[in-house]
Amino acid sequence: MKSESSHTLRKPICLSVVIGLCLCARGALRSQPNISNDGEIQAKAAESVKRVRMEEMTWPDIKSAIEQGYRTVVIAIGSTEQHGPHLPTMTDSRIGDELAHRVAIKLGHTLQARTIPVGCSRHHLAFPGTLSLRDETLKMISLDYIDSLIRSGFKRIVFLPLHGGNFPIVQQTLKEVQTAHPGIEIIGVTDVTKLLDCLSAGSAEFGITANESGSHAGESETSIMMALEKDLVIKERFAPGYVDLTGEKEFKTMREQGIQALTKNGVLGDPRKASADKGEIYLDRLTEFLIQEIKQQSH
Ligand SMILES: [Zn+2]
Repeated sequence: MKSESSHTLRKPICLSVVIGLCLCARGALRSQPNISNDGEIQAKAAESVKRVRMEEMTWPDIKSAIEQGYRTVVIAIGSTEQHGPHLPTMTDSRIGDELAHRVAIKLGHTLQARTIPVGCSRHHLAFPGTLSLRDETLKMISLDYIDSLIRSGFKRIVFLPLHGGNFPIVQQTLKEVQTAHPGIEIIGVTDVTKLLDCLSAGSAEFGITANESGSHAGESETSIMMALEKDLVIKERFAPGYVDLTGEKEFKTMREQGIQALTKNGVLGDPRKASADKGEIYLDRLTEFLIQEIKQQSH
């Protein structure tokens, strides 16, 4: 996860977590029969909510959950981009999806909408396999998610843009859109500095420096992937990347020239001390951090 924030960060981040847009005509949606009166289908809907990932649920079960008070929905925005020679390109999306799922369960009365799997990753395009959206595309996708989720009946929509390149555009989009929907809470955990502090605090407890922990495919992100997808992590290729301090000068270089100007293997940090056990602890800390941020921002 890498940040393009203007802050001077002690540690760059990529915790770093699109969609085939379904172009449904609004007219077609409005012409559908009133589904709320279909007693037979309603009777078949599960009485208790057993799952929170909506892509694993049917519409009657989603409707039933919303009527039972599941009025909050969380959405992770990830990325599909190079993560060094040892981690898969889905790293941010996989981590984001996991965190959104844990947040939905722990927050309670919350469902999870499908994770947006591609983000803004221009600075990684020199590495094969990276997919990148334009800022405007991510903005439009976010707006279409919001429109769809409001139609479903959600009252609180929470975005988790867990890839650094996504933070600025999500922050700006949510600010713009909130005024158009005064009856809906639209929240984004978009303070990348706080997120980095959360990870740094965890690394320090393990005796790992912030530079080793890194912001992109370093120790922390690699540990999390070892906990989630151990078969996709290639330990034989663990090697340090850029491990010096990263400040505004370095971020400017990455924005203008791409991340390869700083690191030839695509890593910011050093994955060699990574372990699945540490990954679980990072996941717990991040889940708690995200829940606290959501609660603080809620009315
Ligand atoms: Zn990442």
